[in-house]
Amino acid sequence: SFPAWVVRRSESEHGHGPASAAFETLDADALDDLSGDLDTVVRVEYSSVNYKDALALTGRPGVVRRWPLVPGVDATGVVLETSGSTWCPGDVVTLNGAGLGENLHGGLAGRAHVDGSRLVRIPSTMSARQAAALGTAGFTAMLAVLAIERHGVAPEDGPVLVTGAAGGLGSIAVALLSRAGFEVTASTGRVSTQSAFLTDLGATAVIDRGELSGPGTPMQAQRWAAVVDAVGEPTLVNAVAQLRQGGIAAACGLAQSAEYVGTVLPYILRGVTLAGINSVEATPDERVAAWLRLERDADLALLDGLTAVAPLAAAREVAERVLAGDVRGRTVIETGR
Ligand code: NAP
Repeated sequence: SFPAWVVRRSESEHGHGPASAAFETLDADALDDLSGDLDTVVRVEYSSVNYKDALALTGRPGVVRRWPLVPGVDATGVVLETSGSTWCPGDVVTLNGAGLGENLHGGLAGRAHVDGSRLVRIPSTMSARQAAALGTAGFTAMLAVLAIERHGVAPEDGPVLVTGAAGGLGSIAVALLSRAGFEVTASTGRVSTQSAFLTDLGATAVIDRGELSGPGTPMQAQRWAAVVDAVGEPTLVNAVAQLRQGGIAAACGLAQSAEYVGTVLPYILRGVTLAGINSVEATPDERVAAWLRLERDADLALLDGLTAVAPLAAAREVAERVLAGDVRGRTVIETGR
């Protein structure tokens, strides 16, 4: 048996009640049978609390698609057994998204049954805990940086804006962009408490998120060569309205709102691009490519500085703090503690 968070909701003929998460002890038969794509058993050593996990652990809608469900979009640990040909028992691997913690039992547990084709070997340069600290947040930030580079944006084209910058995805995006040579402006709701943190990560300027949260005009002064957005409306609409000619915004998140109420003017008058970033459905090749770049570019000392560690039993407490806007950077969950 192993410890696990489980999200449940009551069902009746009148519909279903609210969801809630409980810390339980499970047997392996509580997980899905090993068949089809689910071909590998991982002893999970680390997971983390991403924004999605915070929603799931606090019973909020939008993430959990089956009940009961073990939440946790990230799982990092050791292969115990596999019927696939890629992995061997003892391999240290990580998995981000691919349905974990949404429609497949996830990583906030001592064990997971996973699709081996979506696993990535942890870079030899980092520990399993550091790989978990990167997790979905770091993987997604890397996918966004790769999208910006594919678009042809280079450091000399101008500053890059990162929104939700003190959060998990945002803080790693700041560090990666700075490492890649970009001038980075960090937008945060916590200027007074997190400016030093963000400049330590490499931001050259820190702005209050209120600057981007008003009902802006459709075309604003051209400021950014690219944007990595973790928050959505109205910040993203304003950021797009401030893109330079030919710039790109990588839409990653919705921490502010999932709406997008804007005009097409920046697209047709400045030729800007809105690129959607989807870490969950990333192909095996995209996963390996992003993790290779993380191996090369992630500054592990900075990563350690933005990481807190908590035991599995404390995951819901961390989730509540995430939704209260009270957590900066990343929180790794140690499943064995
Ligand atoms: P997180 O650590 O909780 O960070 C979210 C940050 O957003 C907060 O730290 C805060 O930054 C900002 N924020 C929160 N509420 C806000 C509000 N009402 N208005 C404006 N800004 C607000 O979450 P995360 O795990 O990094 O995820 C960030 C977002 O990206 C989430 O929406 C998540 O679902 C999404 N995401 C998407 C993918 C994908 O594949 N597309 C992958 C990972 C995450 P400041 O304190 O700096 O203001």
